[in-house]
Amino acid sequence: MKFALTDRVAIVTGASGGIGRAIVEELADAKAKIVIGYVANEASAQTLVERVTAIGAEAVATQADVATAAGAASLVQAAVKNFGRLDILVNNAGITRDGLFLRMKETDWDAVLSINLKSAFLCSQAAARYLLRSETGRIINMSSVAGVTGNVGQANYSAAKAGLIGLTKTLARELASRKITVNAVAPGYIQTEMTAKLAPELKDRLAEQIPIGRLGQPEDVAAIVRFLVSDQASYITGQVFQVDGGLAM
Ligand code: NAD
Repeated sequence: MKFALTDRVAIVTGASGGIGRAIVEELADAKAKIVIGYVANEASAQTLVERVTAIGAEAVATQADVATAAGAASLVQAAVKNFGRLDILVNNAGITRDGLFLRMKETDWDAVLSINLKSAFLCSQAAARYLLRSETGRIINMSSVAGVTGNVGQANYSAAKAGLIGLTKTLARELASRKITVNAVAPGYIQTEMTAKLAPELKDRLAEQIPIGRLGQPEDVAAIVRFLVSDQASYITGQVFQVDGGLAM
C-alpha cells in the first residue's frame, strides 16, 4: 500500500472538526492506530472511532484541552497506554476570533494564540520523549495561508499561524538528528465549520479569486498529511505546504 502507516501510532488534535476528521480517516486508511483528540464534541469523536473501526484500523477518543499542559499530557498518555508507543503528532486544533485590529479584544488575542500556537508547543513537548524513541517521528503543524500572507480581521489568527511556521522550522532543526521531521501545512479556504460562518456571497467571491476555482475540501488537506507522515517523506523537513488552490503564490 502506498504511504502505509501500519502499526504507527498517531495523535490528531481537534479531530472532531472538519480537517481533523478527514486526517483521521486518511491515517486509518493507511492502517495507523489513532488517538482522536477532542475538546467538547464527544458524540462526534465516538462516531469517528466507529468509522475508523469500519475502515479496519484502531482508534480511541480522548478528551483534552490542548491549550493546557495537562491536556497535552493526557493525549500522549492515551497513545502510550492504548498502543504502547507514539510516532506521529498532528497539531490540528484551532479556532478563529476575528475582528479588526483596532478593536480586537485582548481575550480574543489570548484565546487564539493559546489554542492555535501554544497548544503545538505543549503537545510537541509532551510527545517528544516518545517521538525520540520512534525511528520515524513526525510532527505536522496546521498553519494557514493567513500565517503566510496576513489577512484583514485576523491579526490574532495570522500571528498564531505565522508563529507555527517559526516553531515548525526550529523544531525541524532541533530534532532532525533524531530522525524526527517537522512540517507545516497551510490551507487556504477549506469547507468546514470554521468557514461555514462566511456569507455565501463572500464564498462565491473567494472562489473567483482561487485559480483552481473552488474552495478546498478537508480531504485535500488530509492527503498531504498522509504523505508527509509516511516513510516516503523522510527527507522532507522544516517546510510549509500550502493547500490553497493557488490562492497565495
Ligand atoms: P473546525 O472548527 O471544524 O475544527 C477545529 C477543531 O479544533 C474543532 O474540533 C474544535 O473542537 C477543536 N478545538 C478548539 N479548541 C480546542 C482546544 N482548546 N483543545 C482541543 N481542541 C480544540 O475547523 P477546521 O477547518 O477543521 O480547522 C482545523 C485546523 O485547520 C485549524 O487549526 C484551522 O485553523 C486550520 N485551518 C483551517 C482552514 C479552513 O479554511 N477551514 C484554513 C486554514 C487553516
